[in-house]
Amino acid sequence: MGRKEDNAKKAVELMKDQTLIRNLGTAAHIDHGKTTFSDNLIAGAGMMSAENAGSQRVLDYDEQEAARGITINAASAAMVVPYRNPKHGNALEHYLVNLIDTPGHVDFGGDVTRAMRALDGVYILCCAVEGIMPQTETVIRQALKERVKPMLFINKVDRAIVEQQLTPQMMIEKFSKIITTFNQKIMDILPAPLNKQWQVSLQDGTVALGSAYNNWAVSIPYLSRPEVTKRAIELVPELKDKLAGKPFNLNTVFDLCAMEGGQEKLAKIIPIADVVLEMAINHIQNPIDSQKIRIPTIWHGDLNSKIGKDMLDCNPKGEVAMMVTKIIMDKQAGEIAVGRLFSGTLTKGMTLYIPGVQAPQRVQGVALMVGADRIAVEECKAGNIVAITGLKDAIAGSTVSSIPDMEPFERMTHYSEPVVTKAIEAKNMADLPKLIEVLRVIAKADPSLNIEINNETGEHLMSGMGELHLEITEYRIKNEQGVDIIASPPIVVYQESVKGRNAKEFEGKSPNKHNRFMFIVEPLNPAVVEAIHKGDIDTEAKIKDPKALAKQLMDLGMSDVEAKGVVGFKNNNVLIDCTKGIQYLHETMELIKQSFDEAMMRGPLAAEKVSGLKVMLMDAKLHEDTIHRGPAQIIPAVRDGIYGAMCVAGRILLEPMQKLFVSVPPDYMGGVTNQINQRRGTIVDMGQDGADSTVTAEVPVAEMFGFSSDIRGTTQGRAIWSIENSGFKQLMPDLQKKVVVEIRTRKGLNPEPYDEKYYSGL
Ligand code: GDP
Repeated sequence: MGRKEDNAKKAVELMKDQTLIRNLGTAAHIDHGKTTFSDNLIAGAGMMSAENAGSQRVLDYDEQEAARGITINAASAAMVVPYRNPKHGNALEHYLVNLIDTPGHVDFGGDVTRAMRALDGVYILCCAVEGIMPQTETVIRQALKERVKPMLFINKVDRAIVEQQLTPQMMIEKFSKIITTFNQKIMDILPAPLNKQWQVSLQDGTVALGSAYNNWAVSIPYLSRPEVTKRAIELVPELKDKLAGKPFNLNTVFDLCAMEGGQEKLAKIIPIADVVLEMAINHIQNPIDSQKIRIPTIWHGDLNSKIGKDMLDCNPKGEVAMMVTKIIMDKQAGEIAVGRLFSGTLTKGMTLYIPGVQAPQRVQGVALMVGADRIAVEECKAGNIVAITGLKDAIAGSTVSSIPDMEPFERMTHYSEPVVTKAIEAKNMADLPKLIEVLRVIAKADPSLNIEINNETGEHLMSGMGELHLEITEYRIKNEQGVDIIASPPIVVYQESVKGRNAKEFEGKSPNKHNRFMFIVEPLNPAVVEAIHKGDIDTEAKIKDPKALAKQLMDLGMSDVEAKGVVGFKNNNVLIDCTKGIQYLHETMELIKQSFDEAMMRGPLAAEKVSGLKVMLMDAKLHEDTIHRGPAQIIPAVRDGIYGAMCVAGRILLEPMQKLFVSVPPDYMGGVTNQINQRRGTIVDMGQDGADSTVTAEVPVAEMFGFSSDIRGTTQGRAIWSIENSGFKQLMPDLQKKVVVEIRTRKGLNPEPYDEKYYSGL
């Protein structure tokens, strides 16, 4: 039996003992070395041959991913880690480490958040040369929000030594700065006492440094192992005199790294896998301890209920509670749901439920994921990351339970909303049904993708986090699913809102003129919008506790009357009933809400989504006879009332913005600022990072197409840059008219939007 098979067998044994499990992830700014790092851990655990580490890429198994060399899917790998524990007299122990590699591109933020949900600890990699980058900060925030304990790995130390020729003193200063910034984030984001408990340091071994590419790493505790010095002297005999009885230390590591062939020796003396796995075994909690901290944050049900207690205890005998973090498409097995099992034991044939889905789901198979391989297992206990088949209605993000009405896990907040759309259609009409099926599945696997299927025109809209996100989805539809499609060039997603408030109530009438609704609209308080965006207010669920909601809204600055009148949300818009004692209104409310929902999905200006709007129903007149106030009457009346009020309040278009960070040698700075200015960008900050100049700017997404080739051109490829979606901002009034006409024409609408006269029925 090969080592790989042997390990698989052992993994199946280890997954039964929860104290021996560590669920870990890696996260970083793009190109800081996550994939190289993960590969080397897997190679260290014998899951891949050492020579292939760095080139074979077990985790990057998607073809598309390998082609682009960036990690797109948070795949998972289970591995067996032998560990000689100094605390137990160096006795040999074995641990089961589940490793998830998360994507590092801004377009895939949703995947990162979902992957975090499955973890208890995360290695945050930070390049020694570039330091903490914007995406590094984002992943720290994402981890802490999920109460996933971070460890810091400072990577590419070889480059700091060999290329930058930093002295040990300079390096220590630079790394201390990285560690301080890292700890400051922890201090700011976490509540006490966790913010102190989770501080990282070189001394206690929660920080390690090294070179993922060259396969070596150091932590202070690892250096103190006597066998390290012994190995060092065996491999580099001259060290015997140099060390003169002292242990192998950081300075000798730096010296060796600078020497010809020294890094190969370091890889034997201080192999990266041993160093960083020790770090996780000692500092990351097993699922039982971790869930006590994590469950109260990621699940807002009753912690004293049976399922609440089961999850807090990670109880394998309890009810099943699982969170699906990823859906994988497999040619043979079909859809596979991968996720974290928080309580209970999964077995084949078991019936499970997804909140909000009527149909019970039958587990057809349970397996452990090892890179692209799945190892079937009889059963899987709480605390593991597991793959199951048979959950036909699960999507990435679903809660799955043995009890039918389990309170779902906290909705994962995405840091970005879709900003770019492509229209796609099947090249051959015959493929149409297949395309619809494929789109349905893709939407399930990637909730950060927005798919609108249009059966009438056959032209479907696919919206995502950025150009690359859509390109990759297109590739998958064509190459993995085998449906040939034609896609339009990317189009920016806009939103609509209002400038002010309509002073006079606007009246919308039903076609039969018997029903009238009076509306006032205005921008929603920014604090409320922010709370919705952060997920502090769940706008998707039914309002269960109106009193608690009113209190929360008042705390955010909404008036007492308005806060108590909230009857519904749609996206980040709110509908408020400010009327008193109107007959039949109660019976009509469902239709009013439905019309409000529809209006918020298609604004009056350009049929784009409405954002940040407060809609207040001030008065209404209703026909006494239900026959005269059916949907065909109420829906247009409410819609016209809201649209008309928006016209009077002053309609505005919002465009998505991206934060752009560029670091470049000073000589090229002029070219970079030119690029930013030409693209309607605003420079937010300029600075210095070592020898490079840096600039932070905010640029509209509409102007970012083609940026990567232009910046490469103007800086001869010398710029390091990254982008992050940064929300929506009002489009310059000068441009609004032109853009509105463009959008409307594209959508086949009359180029001029209707005005208030139209909506008042004149
Ligand atoms: P990811 O985008 O974070 O997954 O980064 P990758 O693992 O794909 O690494 C990005 C690039 O940096 C690749 O060209 C790697 O070979 C290189 N790289 C990764 N780790 C190191 C390191 O420790 N030293 C050096 N010199 N290069 C590294």
